[in-house]
Amino acid sequence: MIEFQAVTKTYPDGTVAVDNLDLTVEDGKITVFVGPSGCGKTTSLRMINRMIDPTGGSILLDGKDIRESDPPLLRRGIGYVIQHAGLFPHRTVLDNVATVPLLTGAGKRQARGKAAELLELVGLPAAFAKRYPAQLSGGQQQRVGVARALAADPPVLLMDEPFSAVDPIVRDDLQQQLLRLQSELDKTIVFVTHDIDEAIKLGDRVAVFRVGGRLAQYDTPSALLAKPADDFVSSFVGRDRGYRALGFLTASGVPVGPLATVKVGEPVSLQGDWAVAVDGENKPLGWVSVESTKDGPLAEADLVSGGSLFEVDSAGSGTAGSLRNALDAALSSPAAVGIAVDAGGAVVGGVTADEVLAALADARRSGEVPT
Ligand code: ADP
Ligand code: MG
Repeated sequence: MIEFQAVTKTYPDGTVAVDNLDLTVEDGKITVFVGPSGCGKTTSLRMINRMIDPTGGSILLDGKDIRESDPPLLRRGIGYVIQHAGLFPHRTVLDNVATVPLLTGAGKRQARGKAAELLELVGLPAAFAKRYPAQLSGGQQQRVGVARALAADPPVLLMDEPFSAVDPIVRDDLQQQLLRLQSELDKTIVFVTHDIDEAIKLGDRVAVFRVGGRLAQYDTPSALLAKPADDFVSSFVGRDRGYRALGFLTASGVPVGPLATVKVGEPVSLQGDWAVAVDGENKPLGWVSVESTKDGPLAEADLVSGGSLFEVDSAGSGTAGSLRNALDAALSSPAAVGIAVDAGGAVVGGVTADEVLAALADARRSGEVPT
């Protein structure tokens, strides 16, 4: 647990970067600091590992004032990831990651073994280990940065806009990866971003800062969207926040209707206009329409492709996709029906865009998201 108690940072030129911050970061959760540029997010983050010392108040880590800890020792338990990864340019990817275990007393072979494991964990193929940072894309460098921060297996991870410099698709990928890693590792993560969507997607709790280093609201993502504390939070969260809620409400509330399926190689007899063609494991291959099929067995050439899939939580596993995924699936499908799949990718049924929007309206009525 990290506790900020009346923490203030006034820089020597008089800038008040952080103003009387009270906030508790829970263990094993992702806490996001979000706000416009210059509102004191980085300053707040760096005070946790003593790269910056407060001018007022105290920060406690697991109940102990961090001023009583020796900074290098403190930092051993706190991983740190920054925007451009901060890798050593003249060391290979593997050695960049192995540096940390080496510093903490591991032998060379052991350190490299550990580094290879971590690179795999963050999704970098082994072939990248011998490259130099400049030979990697921005997204790949960020993965190395995360691997390096995890190398000493610190309980706390500080991440300062780690994904802000990569393009949106890569960013999405890195965000998913972080959520997956966190579900395995249970670190205490403090994540800084200026992007409210990223905050809502990643945060178990989100602290919204305003310029002047003041905390405007500290809440769960759904509470932020449903009950913004004031006009600043409301405008920062955004006017379309009802639709933004699509991204974090799970699709498990959407009624999934039956969907006709047909197998390639078997005769087709369609009841409605469309059916989904599936393989032997009931995984979708494409759509079949009345118009595109002839008599006789269904061939691959008869399939109409298109439409994203969304995952539903059939086994109560809690890993269902979001309402946004469901809406995307419905809107991108040639049949105007989104294909719902289970965790194994098998077809469960279908939903229409109207049903997704009705589920959003229900969530609004029940107060989960704003009207
Ligand atoms: P954020 O990360 O939210 O963009 P920062 O914590 O970097 O904000 O900065 C907060 C405020 O403190 C800004 O007004 C910034 O200009 C100022 N600031 C940051 N570092 C220094 C410094 N070393 N000296 C003086 N002012 C600083
Ligand atoms: Mg910053």
